[in-house]
Amino acid sequence: MRRMFVAGNWKMNTTRQAGIDLAKGLVAAVGPGELGVDVAVCPPFLYLDAVKASVAGSAVTVGAQNCYFEKSGAFTGEVAPGMLVDIGCNWVILGHSERRAILGETDAVIAKKTAAALAAGLKVILCVGEQLSERQANQTEAVLDTQMAGSLAGISADQMGTVVIAYEPVWAIGTGVTASNEQAQAAHAYLRGWLASHYNPQVAQATRILYGGSVKGSNAQGLLGQADVDGALVGGASLKVEDFAPIIQAARETRK
Ligand code: PEP
Repeated sequence: MRRMFVAGNWKMNTTRQAGIDLAKGLVAAVGPGELGVDVAVCPPFLYLDAVKASVAGSAVTVGAQNCYFEKSGAFTGEVAPGMLVDIGCNWVILGHSERRAILGETDAVIAKKTAAALAAGLKVILCVGEQLSERQANQTEAVLDTQMAGSLAGISADQMGTVVIAYEPVWAIGTGVTASNEQAQAAHAYLRGWLASHYNPQVAQATRILYGGSVKGSNAQGLLGQADVDGALVGGASLKVEDFAPIIQAARETRK
């Protein structure tokens, strides 16, 4: 049985104090102790430390939104995976569509980052997903094939134990348009089949595949109820406790 996982991607939002308040508010809303699901918040780099302190003693974990692939050195402005581990960061989101589209990250770069993050001891949330034009041209599966093969190049079956895939159709990110439950399930089932054929059936069964793209309290139950949807990567709705907590609650109520 795969444990449900809900992660909030704060993107380039909040201030230090707003991030602390959001993290503390979330901890208060979900309550202390074991949640029955995994929960992570991913603030901007600068606020990771403060947010980590704010969730201390709770089951809420902390992730970064990116990292570099080198360990240290002359890479001005970059953050090494080991630095994230050093401050107690648990996760890193890699391959987000905004980094692919706006920052020009290629699958080859994402694969290097994935390998470096895993080697440093971070758990990886690897994002894949097609653009609207690609879906309309019936290229969704081909795009997923390319992104999975490229971004996971060199990653072993053992290493997949600490990789989570996030299926994020680009046309659903921040748009208010959500993939239908059926569209999400079809893409997730495809990705699970990809994992079975490129790794093995055990990896396919064990790997969590999150859905991301305009998830809210009102649609979470339907999406999370799909057989191959193991949680959600949430952007906009993770910025308010009253929006994020119901998504976590929907995950808690969805036992697979
Ligand atoms: C995201 O950025 O990963 C995301 C899914 O955003 P939103 O929930 O706002 O669509």
